[in-house]
Amino acid sequence: MKVIKFGGSSVASAKQLNKVLAIVKSDPDRRFVVVSAPGKREQTDKKVTDLLITYYHTVKEKKDPSAIVAEIFSRYQQIATDLALTEPLELLAQLKNLAQTADFTDPYLLDRFLSTGENLNAQLVAEFFKHAGLAARYLDPKELGITVTAEPQNARVLNESYEKINHWKDSAEILVIPGFFGYTQAGNICTFSRGGSDITGSIVAAGVKAELYENFTDVDGIFAANPKFVHKPELMKCATYREMRELSYAGFSVFHDEALMPSFKANIPVVIKNTNNPDSPGSTIKQSHAEDQNQIVGIASDDGFSSINISKYLLNREVGIVGKVLRILEERNVSFEHMPSGIDDISIILRSHQLDQVKEEELLRAIAYEIDPDSLVIEHGLSVVVLVGEGMKYQPNITADSTAALARKNVNIRMLSQGAGEVSIVFAIKSEQERAAVRSLYYTFFD
Ligand code: ASP
Repeated sequence: MKVIKFGGSSVASAKQLNKVLAIVKSDPDRRFVVVSAPGKREQTDKKVTDLLITYYHTVKEKKDPSAIVAEIFSRYQQIATDLALTEPLELLAQLKNLAQTADFTDPYLLDRFLSTGENLNAQLVAEFFKHAGLAARYLDPKELGITVTAEPQNARVLNESYEKINHWKDSAEILVIPGFFGYTQAGNICTFSRGGSDITGSIVAAGVKAELYENFTDVDGIFAANPKFVHKPELMKCATYREMRELSYAGFSVFHDEALMPSFKANIPVVIKNTNNPDSPGSTIKQSHAEDQNQIVGIASDDGFSSINISKYLLNREVGIVGKVLRILEERNVSFEHMPSGIDDISIILRSHQLDQVKEEELLRAIAYEIDPDSLVIEHGLSVVVLVGEGMKYQPNITADSTAALARKNVNIRMLSQGAGEVSIVFAIKSEQERAAVRSLYYTFFD
C-alpha cells in the first residue's frame, strides 16, 4: 500500500481537490492520505497557516479576532461550496474555540493554532471523499499514534509511534490524516517545524511499512539546479537519501529535510510528484542508484552565510584550540555549518541570521581573548554552493572540473570542503557570484 501526501497548493481550492480525488481514485493502493493546510491559490495569496499565526497574535494583543476568523473560515467555506458539500459550520466552531479557550501561559498554544489549518482541512477532505463515494474517514494523529517530543513548533517523532501506527495498516477505509503535528506524551498538540506535513507523511509510511511514499506538490519533481539560476534545468530522476539530505540542507526546499529520516530508516522509497501533472514520473529518493546514474545528481546553493577566520602562527601545534572555539560558540547558542582548517588558520562558516551586532562583537571578543590570534576577521555576504553525487567517490576529476568551472567565471572560492563521505563538495563564495557559480557548475556537469 502507498502513503500519499498533498502539499498546500494541491489542497488550496476545489479545483485542486478534484485533482487530488482523481489521483487517489486512480490507484487502489493509495490508502493513507496526508494533507497540508490550504496554501496559496496564486502568488499574492496567503497560506492558511500564516493566517492562523495572525489570528494567534490578534488574540494575544487582545484585539477583536472576528475579521481574521472570517477570513480563515472563508477559505474552507469557499472550497466546501465549490465542491457542493454542506456548510462546514463545525469547522467554524473549532476555529472560534481557539480564541475562546486561549491560555497564553500554555507553551503549546501557538502549536494549537498552527495545527488547526491541517486539522480542519483533513476533516473537509475526508468529507469530500465520502461525498464522492469513497470509503474514507478523518483520523486524528492522536488516534493514529503519532507521539512526539515536547518541543513546541519543533517536535520530533518518538519511536514508540511506529508500532501504534502499524495497527492501522489494514484499515478498510482510506484514512485522511492532517499533517504537521503530533501529540506529546502528556497529550499536548505539538507541531513539527514549518513545512512539516512532509514529516507526517514519512512517519506514516514508515509506520505502516508502505511500499512507497508519494509526495505530491506543484512541480514535476526535483530540479538538478535552481530554476531561478538555470533555464529549464534537468529533473532528477533519482537521488539517494544521502544525496537528498545534502541537497535539502543547502536550500532545496521541495522536500522537508527532516522528512527523510523515517523513510530512510524503514527503507521506503519517496517519490516527489506534481498534482497538476500526475503522469510525469517525478523524482524518486531511495537507498541506492542504478548503475548508469550521473556522477553528479544536483547542485544546491543558499545565501546568508558568514565566516569567522582565525589565523595564528603554529596553530596546528596548539592542543585543544578547536575545542575552545566550539565552546565559545556553544555558550552563545550559535551553531556552525563547516569548519575547514589549515596549518595556521581555521574558518567557521555559519548562518548569519544567528548573529546580531552585539552577539557578533561578544563572540569575536571571546575568541580574541581565549585564542589570542594573529588575525581575526568576520566576513559576511557569503553563499554556500554544494555539488552532490555519491558517484563522485569513483571519479578523480570532479574537484578539478568544478574548480575549473568556477575559475572560468572568475568566481573566487573562499572555502572548499569535501567530507570523508565524498557525497558532496562544498564551496563558500561571495553571494554576488552565486548565480554565476551555479550556472557554470550546472553546464559543466549536466549539459
Ligand atoms: N502548513 C504548514 C506550513 O505551512 C505545514 C505544511 O504545509 O507542511 O508550514
